[in-house]
Amino acid sequence: MPRLLLLLPTRTYRAHDFMEAAGRLGVEVAVGSEREQALAALSPEKHLVLDFLQVEEATQTIVTFAEAYPLDAIVAVDDDTALLGAMASEALSLPYNSVASVAATGNKHRLRLLMASAGLLSPPFALFSSADDPGQAAQSISFPCVLKPLCLSASRGVMRADGVEQFVVAFRRLRALLQTPDVVRRGGKLARQILVEGFIPGREVALEGLLVKGELTVLALFDKPDPLDGPFFEETLYITPSRLPTAVQQDIAVCTAHAAQALGLREGPVHAELRVNDRGAWLIEIAARSIGGLCSRTLRFGTGMSLEDLILHHAIGANVGSYERQRHAAGVMMLPIPYGGILHEVRGQEEAKRVPGIEELTITIPIGQEVVPLPEGAQYLGFLFARNDTPEGVETALRKAHQCLTYTIEPVHPQNS
Ligand code: ADP
Repeated sequence: MPRLLLLLPTRTYRAHDFMEAAGRLGVEVAVGSEREQALAALSPEKHLVLDFLQVEEATQTIVTFAEAYPLDAIVAVDDDTALLGAMASEALSLPYNSVASVAATGNKHRLRLLMASAGLLSPPFALFSSADDPGQAAQSISFPCVLKPLCLSASRGVMRADGVEQFVVAFRRLRALLQTPDVVRRGGKLARQILVEGFIPGREVALEGLLVKGELTVLALFDKPDPLDGPFFEETLYITPSRLPTAVQQDIAVCTAHAAQALGLREGPVHAELRVNDRGAWLIEIAARSIGGLCSRTLRFGTGMSLEDLILHHAIGANVGSYERQRHAAGVMMLPIPYGGILHEVRGQEEAKRVPGIEELTITIPIGQEVVPLPEGAQYLGFLFARNDTPEGVETALRKAHQCLTYTIEPVHPQNS
């Protein structure tokens, strides 16, 4: 029976869905995670403790593990583990994306350089040291622009500026975020730089795809019907199928395929964010992983496979059957954090769940925990899922259910912070 190593950080939302998929596939599964699991000693072939920030050491740990328990595939579930997945696969000669291609997806400046040299539509961009004087940096910038860190995700630290004054404020705010211990630890030297790009106007979409031997299959295209014009870029609604004209959808798929090719990505899931306007499709980012959070729950393929089923089948080279998404429309709302503080209560949950079309509501932040909105924060309050005959119906259901919810968030008292 093939053995698969799943790289599952303890804070991922995806553990349950991937473990269920592995169970259905009937493979041996080993889980690599930062913490020792209870009872791990009883089944050493199933658990592996890895420090995802020490990629070289962690690669060696996986290689040693594989000597005792041979591996047939490694699946990294998110951005934090993608590079380790590539490095360990290379060390074990397992099929995967090259280390360089995955590393490029984790560096927004490198991504921009590669996209521009591949001839894809690209905004002007410039790289600054976070120690630079923002007033001076602003002199070389055309507005509106977007400031962003090189290495964070989920729109963390991404801010729009329409003029010098806003630029200076945003630059300082991003510098402060980049100096927080957690970001320094994760980002290393990438946390000392700030990328500034021209603001790309247009509608935003997210493409979920699977690469097999360098060929992209589009699994789903999500519209993001809420305008994302800044100053922060909080994701809320994702709705599939897209309501964009077929030719525009094709343009998006072609742009994503070119981007993957330019990076050298060849195998496994890709998640891309793009904007479309009169000039065509513009790649905002592409990652060598599947959609984040619990959003994959909107997707069902063929005779009921989940996205995680597809990814694991592909990883071990098993036949997938059909990549066809089931026909109904589906969507998710990532519940935004309206303001920071301690989450005390979420009211209206039962009412929200009763809205026709709503399938699931999950509040993912425990009561009593501090919540931090964008641009500094990196979480959502939870996820609302809907299914309906049409994308319009899904959107209406999600908006209606969201209106049922009210939050009690109380300020953090300085002595507690
Ligand atoms: P992250 O990886 O943290 O999600 P992105 O680079 O994808 O960072 O940016 C997050 C969001 O910010 C995008 O989904 C988009 O809405 C917005 N954004 C980023 N860059 C630009 C840009 N150049 N023009 C317009 N919007 C942008």
